[in-house]
This record gives sequence, C-alpha cells and structure tokens, in this order.
Amino acid sequence: MLNWLRRRFAGALPRGRTARAVPDALWQATLAHYPFLAELDDAAQSRLREMSSAFLGQKEFFGAGGLIITDAMALAVAAQACLPLVYLAPPGNPAAALGWYDDFVGVVLHPGEVVARREVTDEDGVVHHYREALTGEAMDGGPVMLSWADVADAGHTAAQGYNVVIHEFVHKMDLRDGEADGCPPLPAGFMGTASVAEARRQWRARLQAEFEKFSDQVAAAERFGSLVDTPWLDPYAAESPSEFFAVASEAYFVNPGKLQAQSAGLHDLLDAFFRPPQRALP
Ligand SMILES: [Zn+2]
Repeated sequence: MLNWLRRRFAGALPRGRTARAVPDALWQATLAHYPFLAELDDAAQSRLREMSSAFLGQKEFFGAGGLIITDAMALAVAAQACLPLVYLAPPGNPAAALGWYDDFVGVVLHPGEVVARREVTDEDGVVHHYREALTGEAMDGGPVMLSWADVADAGHTAAQGYNVVIHEFVHKMDLRDGEADGCPPLPAGFMGTASVAEARRQWRARLQAEFEKFSDQVAAAERFGSLVDTPWLDPYAAESPSEFFAVASEAYFVNPGKLQAQSAGLHDLLDAFFRPPQRALP
C-alpha cells in the first residue's frame, strides 16, 4: 500500500502541482471505511477524489512516535480534510478550493492522544500549569496535528457526530482571517446580505444564538443530570463560538440527518456556508 505515495514523493518533480489520480482500489477501500464519504452523491465523490489527490500532492505527512504512514492513512486524512470544501469547489477545478488550506504544509499524525503541557496566567498573575489530552490541534500558519487512532475510528464515531479531521480543518477555515472566532471569511452576498461586513454580523448573530442555546442545554444537563435531555453534540462545543463552529461542522458532515433533527437552525446556518447555492471562493 505504501508504493503509490512513495512513488509520488520520490520523483524529481517539485512538491505540489503534480496531482496523480488516486488508485481505484485505494479509493474504494477509503469509502468503505468511512461510510459518510460513500453517502456523497457521485459528483461530490468525484470532486472529493480529485481534491484528495491534490491535497496529497501539496501536503507533507509526518508520523510521530514511530508511526509509519501508509497510503491508506494519508488518503483517509486527505479525503476527510477535503470534505468541508466539497461544495465550495469551483466547477471544473475542484482542487482550487484547497486554497483554504494553503497556509501550511505539514500534517503530523500521532499514534493516539497527545498530552500537552499548558500554562495559563490568571488575573492575579499566578501561572497555572496543567496537562491536556489532545486528539488534534490546528494553529494559524502551522501544521495540523491528529491522533491516528481517532482518525481511524471516524467511521464508527460518526454516530455521535464526531470527526477529528473535520474539526481541525474547520478551525483552519475559521483561522483564514487570522482569528479563531467561529466566523470564517464569508463571500459578499452571503445569505442575501449586501456587504461582507453585514454577512459577518449576520453569521455571528445566528451562530451566537445557537451557541447560547447549546451552552444553556449543557449547563442544564450538568446541573440536573438525567432529569433533562443531554445535548447530542459534544459538550466541549460550549467552550467558545470557535469550538462550537468546529464541533457542529463535524456533525454537519458526518451525520447531517441527526444534526438537522436535533437543531434545524444550526444545520441550515452551516448549510448556507458549506453548501452555497452558487459555488464560489471568498
Ligand atoms: Zn477545537
């Protein structure tokens, strides 16, 4: 399975612009492993395949902790990373949508969760050290880090709307304008608005309303336990509008029916961004 990527990377051609078609057997195996990809219609699947191939040509994969990266692993990441772009791709040139991710090259795969050392300084100037288990991380202008165990399990965890690759790459989309604030760059005319500024106001207002509703549900579930309905989305989404956007986007792509049933307003808001009536890049 390693040969195809090795051949791609070992050639004398410069990295990037030499996308080679993904072999059929490898593509079919990926669809079988991640049923939410197999559920895309034929046109979207074919765009995703072309984008995945371009993604593999543009990015460099690193295995941490002795992890050996196979073709199937790299393609699994590529296909899920490209999924949020599949309806934003310009007709005739789907790979152009990868411009959303052109601020970085490296994708680092760890075998499992990574324990990161963190420190925060509180308002009294006291520095607190703590450890945090991460399944993924995305930084502005930096590489994306992912736990392979979580990537590999994404076919099963789609039932909970969970997907670490989509989460981190949606953070990348959010970060496109330099800030992880839950508001990605929006095109003029978005949701019928007259200007980009108005589009951003409208997006923020609607996302904030959904975020507050969700945060209230999480708080009620924590306080009253089984007496109230526990929200379906990961409670981590209540951390901030940026995490809410990333977590909700996971569910939107891997379990859209459930998200719609749970929160039609949130589903429709994400639909307006990820599946615009006219495909266009901002
Ligand atoms: Zn996050």
